[in-house]
Amino acid sequence: MAANYYYRPAAAVPVPPRQIANVRDDYERWYTETSPNNRMSLSLRSRIHSEISWALERLCRLAYNEQFALSAYPGLIDGLFEWPEWYVTQGYKQIQPTGADLLFAPPREFVSQHRYALESLFIMRNAALNEQNSRELAGHSHTLPLICKALENLNYEKDQNQEVLLHIIDIFQVLAPNLVINASVPDSSNPIVPLKHIVALSKNRSLIISAFTALNSVLSNPSNASHLSRATDSLDAAIRYMPLFVDKPLLEVSLEHIYIHIAHPAAARAFLLNPKLRSVLKVLCTLVLTEQQNLEEKVTIDITGRMHSVSATNLASRDYELTKEELDTILEKAEPQRCYDWMRQMLVPKPEGEMTQVDIWTMYKDTFTPYQEKQPLLGASEVIKNIAMVYPTAQAMVLPGQVQRFVVRGIDRRKNTSENDRFKCQWDANACSAAPLASPSELAEHLFEHLSNVQPSANKYHCAWATCSQTADSPQRLRSHALTHIPSSQPPQRHPSQSETITLSGTDPYYAVNTPTARAIPPPPKTTIVYEKPTLDPPSYCLTALLITRILFRVAFADVEAAPKADDDHFGFPGVVEEDPDAPDHEVQETDVEGSRKGRKAFANIRNMLENIRIRDDALMNWVGEMLDAVSADI
Ligand SMILES: [Zn+2]
Ligand SMILES: [Zn+2]
Repeated sequence: MAANYYYRPAAAVPVPPRQIANVRDDYERWYTETSPNNRMSLSLRSRIHSEISWALERLCRLAYNEQFALSAYPGLIDGLFEWPEWYVTQGYKQIQPTGADLLFAPPREFVSQHRYALESLFIMRNAALNEQNSRELAGHSHTLPLICKALENLNYEKDQNQEVLLHIIDIFQVLAPNLVINASVPDSSNPIVPLKHIVALSKNRSLIISAFTALNSVLSNPSNASHLSRATDSLDAAIRYMPLFVDKPLLEVSLEHIYIHIAHPAAARAFLLNPKLRSVLKVLCTLVLTEQQNLEEKVTIDITGRMHSVSATNLASRDYELTKEELDTILEKAEPQRCYDWMRQMLVPKPEGEMTQVDIWTMYKDTFTPYQEKQPLLGASEVIKNIAMVYPTAQAMVLPGQVQRFVVRGIDRRKNTSENDRFKCQWDANACSAAPLASPSELAEHLFEHLSNVQPSANKYHCAWATCSQTADSPQRLRSHALTHIPSSQPPQRHPSQSETITLSGTDPYYAVNTPTARAIPPPPKTTIVYEKPTLDPPSYCLTALLITRILFRVAFADVEAAPKADDDHFGFPGVVEEDPDAPDHEVQETDVEGSRKGRKAFANIRNMLENIRIRDDALMNWVGEMLDAVSADI
């Protein structure tokens, strides 16, 4: 290759690519070519085991492809029938009735032939998923006889037969929708009979589902309605499987089967007399309700009305006042230091705070006017200017408006903290001038000083704590009482859900009244409505369940105006229609009335469940509403 950089041959002829056979699987050219070719069917029918194995193995892979067409291989379909037909007529007889062949190896010849039959059926089953192939299979003269023979001869309980039957029934589903079974066909040749046995008695879930699907296809054809009465076993099986909500494929075919039965008016009327009617309705509603949980969202609406409230701890926000000691210290200072120190004590920086300039000036004036002989006051504008010296973030400003407002932004009055206030003496109706104390024991010590000075009036000792009006017979009793006013060392714990405000019943903030028990009850602090709202449509099997419920409802409530009959419940009922015992339809009428009565009772039984059903679609919701209306009217 390197030589090419230096030298290019004068006559460079491109070498044609060598024909290499593609030996990978599925790439042997001849049988994937579209031109008709019968080698595959020749191999299949050659009776040479290696050839048959090879052909079937290739076809199994090809049949996965949705482009695979049986018509592309002339004679192939006939070849595929050969081994299955052998098995359902001859081969199955070699299975030991005792099951010994499961313990000991069966003859090798039988094993290969059984496999050929299985593989041939597997290819046909997969091919049938293609529209064109399914038409071809449906039109083939061997298809129906093969299926009937298989259903007739093969015991579905034998392990060797189960897979064969599964494929056979899958192929049968291709024919089923257009198959009309004559009412006079004997049971031995009627595919419905073995299918219903499989559905009712087999332990193989795949087989049950496949047989249900096939039965549903055949029976949904109105021409086959006469066979519905023969399929009561399968109806019972469907009712039995229906509560298995977790097994969706089985649930779907079971519901479908029940639906096909009761879609026929006579069968629906008969179903009302079924002793399982109540349970069926309950299970149907439970299914809809169970699925509903995944389709809903929670909606919360806040309908809290206007509320009036006051702070639960109003003591905490009391303005701070200078103590005597603090004032004395400040008075020693010369201006402007006196003003600075005073501001530090009285004001605090607070970003969202705001005070009017007049308030600040008045406060200053009121504090220092009594001492103006010692030192003159500063001018108002000077005091306002000083704020910015103490608190640089504070800003004096004029707010425009109808009346201009002169304010200072960024400061606020210093507040008493509740901690300080809790141990404040409130003797002499709050008039005691002592500063708040640090602990309950200090407050108690202080309180004892007051108590030692209490003088009796008319032999009674009066408590003077805040607004207390308690009296005692002796100083000792007064002392024990007075101690109840001392708060505990820990502030009272507030429950996390408790609001910091007290809700009032009216706009009047003075909620302390003489008759607190007669006070109007305030509205709850928060009122919300929470409910579930469907956001998605239910899955199709829920709609089938709903449809079944509706059909049964309509049959049960069909004759609302029907005249009541004389029975145990309606003996001597006015307007009772006297029945003619010779009327030919006497029996029918009697059972219809009985069915309707039982049906209505069963619906009354599921009323609570119906009330909880919520569906996004309005039309479906109307169905539920209609049922509820009728049931309620009935009760
Ligand atoms: Zn005091
Ligand atoms: Zn008291």
